[in-house]
Amino acid sequence: MSTIDNPFACKLTPHIQELIDASDAKSPIARQFMPSDHEHINDAQSREDPIGDERFSPMKGITHRYPDRLLLKPTYTCAAHCRFCFRRKKVFEQQKALSPDELIAALNYIREHAEIWEVILTGGDPFMLSASQLIDIVKALNEIEHVAVIRIHTRVPIVASEKITLPLIQSLKVDKPLYIVVHCNHARELTEDVRQACALFIDNGFPMLSQTVLLKGVNNAPDTMIALFRALIQTRIKPYYLHHCDLVKGASHFRTSIKEGQEIMRALRGHLSGICQPVYILDIPEGFGKVPIGPNYLIETTSEFEYHIEDFRGNVHSYIDKHASKKNLLGMLE
Ligand SMILES: *Cc1c(COP(=O)(O)O)cnc(C)c1O
Ligand code: SF4
Repeated sequence: MSTIDNPFACKLTPHIQELIDASDAKSPIARQFMPSDHEHINDAQSREDPIGDERFSPMKGITHRYPDRLLLKPTYTCAAHCRFCFRRKKVFEQQKALSPDELIAALNYIREHAEIWEVILTGGDPFMLSASQLIDIVKALNEIEHVAVIRIHTRVPIVASEKITLPLIQSLKVDKPLYIVVHCNHARELTEDVRQACALFIDNGFPMLSQTVLLKGVNNAPDTMIALFRALIQTRIKPYYLHHCDLVKGASHFRTSIKEGQEIMRALRGHLSGICQPVYILDIPEGFGKVPIGPNYLIETTSEFEYHIEDFRGNVHSYIDKHASKKNLLGMLE
């Protein structure tokens, strides 16, 4: 069945096709992009809008959950379809991009909300817009006085790096900082072409961060994560978030426990350079926002001013926090 007949069929780019090892259906790339029977598992916990985008959408194309920043989603198209996509239904069914009028309305919403410090372009993938559409949006945002920072979330540099060209990047240069957050889940995704596309961004003044989804059978092992985060830093991309896999319908086979995620993070601490460490994040279902979910090294004790602190080797130390309470501080001075 073609993608048109069945939106949940697979969509690949030539680059991803090359990376998929035909003889290894369990390869970390194949698992991310090839449909699996497990997608039909009925998991009562899963949902179509796992992080409540709709509840916080004042109008088409905008999700405004936090006070100082919002998402602007001009398109739901992606170059390739990640099977675990948290906007799977919208992306796979290729929900319509914003019409010119809807885009004007969305930009007006941002203009009317002076508290919006940052606009995050996402979707779908903003780099699937035509160059002129993307440039127009970035320029419009650049002109809104209270918008200080523009951010683009994308997977195009990974799955279709040929779309990232010097002329495109040069025409995206605006006065305001434009950050690129690339979605990357395995070191094997960072081929030479991909690294060159990222270098184009960075050499032209666009700082890069990464986000990774914790995925069973793809990257749920400390060594795999260490290789990924080192490769990112070697590409000058700062690992930003490690996302716990959302409660996406059809993706339960990708989900690990939170405990497993914490154990992986624990294995990185101390053994891997601090600049390689992302923050492990849960996007709370129904739209309550993202929060770090550990692991936690600071353990409360029954004492008001003593903590137990675990070091990266697992040894526990006492820490006296004399600032914990004025009463205790005075007591200690006496
Ligand atoms: C993830 C997300 C953001 C960005 O969150 P940061 O923690 O700033 O990276 C903003 N708005 C919405 C609705 C989001 O889901
Ligand atoms: S790139 Fe992002 S939005 Fe697009 S299919 Fe993958 S996870 Fe979904």
